[in-house]
This record gives sequence, structure tokens and C-alpha cells, in this order.
Amino acid sequence: MKKVVVLGSTGSIGTNALRIIEAFPSRFQATGLAVRRDYKQALEQAQRVGAAHVAIADEEMAAKCAAEAPAGIAVHSGEAGMSELAAAAGADVVLCAVVGIAGLRPVMAAAEAGIDIALATKEVLVAAGQPVTEACERHGARILPVDSEHSAILQCLAGQMPDARCRMPDAENQRSEVRRIVLTASGGPFRAKPDVDFDKVTIEEVLDHPSWDMGQKVTVDSATLMNKGLEIAEAHWLFHMPVDRIDVVVHPESIIHSMVEFVDGSVIAQMSVPDMRFAIQYALAYPERLEADLPRLDLPATGALHFDEPDTKRFPALALARDAATRGGTMPAVLNAANEIAVEKFLKGEIAFSRIWGLVEQVMSKHEVVDQPDIDAVTQADAWAREVAGEA
Ligand code: MG
Repeated sequence: MKKVVVLGSTGSIGTNALRIIEAFPSRFQATGLAVRRDYKQALEQAQRVGAAHVAIADEEMAAKCAAEAPAGIAVHSGEAGMSELAAAAGADVVLCAVVGIAGLRPVMAAAEAGIDIALATKEVLVAAGQPVTEACERHGARILPVDSEHSAILQCLAGQMPDARCRMPDAENQRSEVRRIVLTASGGPFRAKPDVDFDKVTIEEVLDHPSWDMGQKVTVDSATLMNKGLEIAEAHWLFHMPVDRIDVVVHPESIIHSMVEFVDGSVIAQMSVPDMRFAIQYALAYPERLEADLPRLDLPATGALHFDEPDTKRFPALALARDAATRGGTMPAVLNAANEIAVEKFLKGEIAFSRIWGLVEQVMSKHEVVDQPDIDAVTQADAWAREVAGEA
């Protein structure tokens, strides 16, 4: 029985994770849930799944929650509460599915406690890949990706190396057999609309993703292709792979979730219908596979699969993110923070879609990079970038 703590239990990944946990009552038990503000829904979920701990990031809401919580449910408050939840709830694995950099401290706390992390919040690795992976290595925690592309890569590598795990002790050995990683990208809602004016597209058009049903932040990132850029940095840290050996190919059907090319020229790809539950379940059950009632792949019904080069002229965010990952140090943290602010501004109607990557580039150009950053240097760079992006 694996005890699971879900950070971000009311979001798209979180609610799907609870569905999986409830579908396998003899395998998983949710022992702790964390949300930003919606404590009423968190308490409902906790009672439904039998979780004895909830954490509410917003301290005012946490106080209300503590007043309303039924006997038997402990309430943890604020960022500290999010960070102490995994240990308090006796977790074997922490699923982190909060939005953005808010996942950083709780993930570090889990790593330092030697607790495995099922990671949906890619921003944590983008911004703080070095300190987070070092903490995992030092304390024996694993990071299991809950991102369809990185789950695919892990699955491709698992066939190659029976003991495949992220941050493998024999990463040198593995890297020598891998020529490159190929991340697939759906291309987002504007791939097939070359005439769309990015100065004028509406929030509704941006949020109308053709193949994946996701939260708002990642859906906007998919439309700019920033998401794929963040995934380059994520793959770099998860699989010890140099940035220049991580390629991106556009694949609009989203059936192949990513590929690994080995030194002999063989390519292994992982396929399924696009549904996040595959990656969530694989991370929770890893290294096992559980028989599930998920939609099955019907290739004749699917028909042709297509592949294309990404258009970095139309979608400069992809190249910006690759540049930041290549530069390293605190630059990816700055890219990530500036992007979070830019996406927020776009979703509030304050800036045009086309301003998102311009704003990110502007903040990056002003940053003095700190190399080999520890967690404090990352946090400082993140705060600096938010301030500069907020004023830009
Ligand atoms: Mg992804």
C-alpha cells in the first residue's frame, strides 16, 4: 500500500490522481491533500478519500478550514504547512501538481525527507533543477515525471535499463547509450492556423487546446510553445541529458508522447491516446504497471500520424527557453518567473498574447546569471524576475 500526498488536489492533475487512487483501494491511500485556497473542496475530498491531513496555502483560508474541519482531519497552514504535509501524512510518494514555482519548497522538503516525488509541476525542475536533483540524490528520493513526454521517455528507457530511474546512479552509462531524446509537441491551437494575428487572439482561442485537457497556465504555455521549452529543461535534469541532445518534433495527433534514439540508430517511442491519467498512474505505480480501465489505442481508427519541425520564428518562446536551459545557472528560473507573470497578465487581459515572449526576453536580457545556484539563489532570481516582469 502506497501512501500518497497530493499537492494541488483540486486541479486537473490532482482530481485525476484522486480518481486513480480511488480506483485502486488496495494499492494506494491518499493520506494528505493540499490546495491554495479552496478549503471547502479540499475538506470534501479528504472526507471522501479518507485523508487525515489537509494543507491550505492561503493562511486566512487555512484558519477558516481549521474552524470547520471535522474531527480526525488535521489542518496545516501556509507555505510551511504545504512543506510539512508529506512528512506529517507519512507519505511514500508526494504528487506535486500545484501551479508554478509554489511547488518548490514542498518538493525540496520531500526530497530532503527521502520521499519519492511524482512531479507534474515542471517549473520546479526548470527553475531549481540543480538543488532539487542534488537533494534527491543525497537523500535517496526519486523524481517520477507526471508529464506525458517525460513519462514516455522514462518508459522508453525502462525497457533499456531494467533498473531505470530518474537521476540514475549509472547515468553516465545510460547517457552513453542514448544518442538523443525527442520530445513531441502537439503544436498547440495555432499550429494549423498560420494566419492568426498573435496581437489580437482572444483568451478563449488560446485556451482551446486541440488534443489535451489541462489547467490554464499549461494551456497558455502550450499555445506559445513555452511549455515545450520548459520541458527541454525538465528532461535535461530528469535524465542527465545535455540540452543539445534534446530535440523537439511537432506531432499534432499527440499519440506518440516522446521518443528515445539510441546510439545504434534504433528509436523507441511510447504511445497512447492523449489522457493524463496514463502518466499519473505510471508515476504512482512505478515501476509496476496496473491493469486499468483507460481508453485504448485503436491505430486503424487513429489513421495517419504526422511529424514536422517546430516553427521557432512564429513561436520564439521555444528558442528562448532552449537558450535559457543552455545558459543554465539562474537563467531558467528567470525565464520561468517572467513567463508565469506574463501568462497571468495575459489571462487578466492586461497584455496581448504576442507580448508574452517579448516580456520574457526583456527580463532575461537584464539578468546577471548566478552559476551553480543553491535554493536561495534560485528564490532570489525568481523574486527579482517577478518584480521586473511585473513592471515591464
Ligand atoms: Mg507535457
